[in-house]
Amino acid sequence: MEKIKMTTPLVEMDGDEMTRILWKLIKDELLTPYIDLHTEYYDLGLVYRNETNDQVTIDSANATKKYGVAVKCATITPNAARMTEYNLKEMYKSPNGTIRAILDGTVFRAPIIVKGIEPYVNTWKKPITIARHAYGDVYKASEMKIAGVGKAELVFTDEQGQETRELIHDFKGAGILQGIHNLEDSIESFARSCFNFALETKQDLWFATKDTISKKYDHTFKDIFQEIFDKEYAEQFKAANIEYFYTLIDDAVARVIRSEGGYIWACKNYDGDVMSDMVATAFGSLSMMTSVLVSPDGYYEYEAAHGTVQRHYYKHLKGEETSTNPLATIFAWTGALRKRGELDNISELGIFADKLEQACINTIESGKMTKDLALITTLDNPVTLNTENFIKAVRETLDTLL
Ligand code: NAP
Ligand code: MG
Repeated sequence: MEKIKMTTPLVEMDGDEMTRILWKLIKDELLTPYIDLHTEYYDLGLVYRNETNDQVTIDSANATKKYGVAVKCATITPNAARMTEYNLKEMYKSPNGTIRAILDGTVFRAPIIVKGIEPYVNTWKKPITIARHAYGDVYKASEMKIAGVGKAELVFTDEQGQETRELIHDFKGAGILQGIHNLEDSIESFARSCFNFALETKQDLWFATKDTISKKYDHTFKDIFQEIFDKEYAEQFKAANIEYFYTLIDDAVARVIRSEGGYIWACKNYDGDVMSDMVATAFGSLSMMTSVLVSPDGYYEYEAAHGTVQRHYYKHLKGEETSTNPLATIFAWTGALRKRGELDNISELGIFADKLEQACINTIESGKMTKDLALITTLDNPVTLNTENFIKAVRETLDTLL
């Protein structure tokens, strides 16, 4: 078979620990034998981030703006222990945070569905994609402990020094206070990212807040979504035969549990934090969650939702056998290759991506899987493979499909 040619490079962001090992295996076994892989390589492994004072992370995000599509390996977010372990010059910020700040995107997370790994919610037949707004609210709050009697007010001072006040509470005793904010610009780009992603994946979009209680704050989210939808997206949604649906957050939770899945659920920052863990767990396994950052300008960065699987890496370093699930990382590559193919009109890339995903699914459904899945599968007599042998098994399945 002749290798598939690419025209525009993919931005390749390498990472850390066990996922860095997976990264190389995936490229060697599942990609370069079939594709003339054309990437612009950025090493986001912590060693090189430290060497470049984290400039490499910024460069990789700017390259994503230039080329449009990136694929990222999981990376370490340094903490005190990592400072010593890697002899770091400073405690660098999370690469994902840095990249998101430059691309201004929304993260969409969706589970990979296979037979034999059944969701705990037995009505769920299709993936539920969570879109989490990643700015403001309680994550950028100011808080105060109130010692005793006194009056708390919201005060806004405009550029002319004019004050607007709103009573929060007349305290008769001790209590607590919290001030949160959000920005119209940020809510607008969140809305556009969600509408674009719904159109692109041909799925309904659900959005929910608590606007009956929060008549200005949450209501603004609702209004911005509705205005942008009516002005810019209503026609396109109709043509694509998909729906935008708004409801209250508690109603949304009840409907999600009764649903079949197959839609995007847009969540405010806190709701997204909580609900994405609920949805991921209910679908079965963290190692099967994919993630894509979509910017309002149409840049895409694909990755796995899980981290660097540190515990497995330390076993690997000791020469012990590991059984690490590469699916979410493989699907990051297939997502990026499919998108590159779409943008460059190279249909072979999309077809290859589909086949590689199918090969992963068929391999697991045939009973061959990594340990994390073997522990929870409903299939009888699963065969647990180690990291390398599972990837080899996927390659064998892929060869029968090509
Ligand atoms: P993690 O890498 O997500 O792993 C947590 C546990 O989940 C693992 O120990 C493993 O359980 C299981 N697991 C996750 N992915 C798996 C896979 N592909 N195959 C099999 N099992 C899997 O989280 P962590 O160990 O807490 O974090 C490690 C590092 O990742 C941290 O330095 C953190 O900063 C970083 N991180 C990066 C990202 C990112 O780049 N997007 C996201 C989250 C965390 P068992 O050990 O029980 O087998
Ligand atoms: Mg969380």
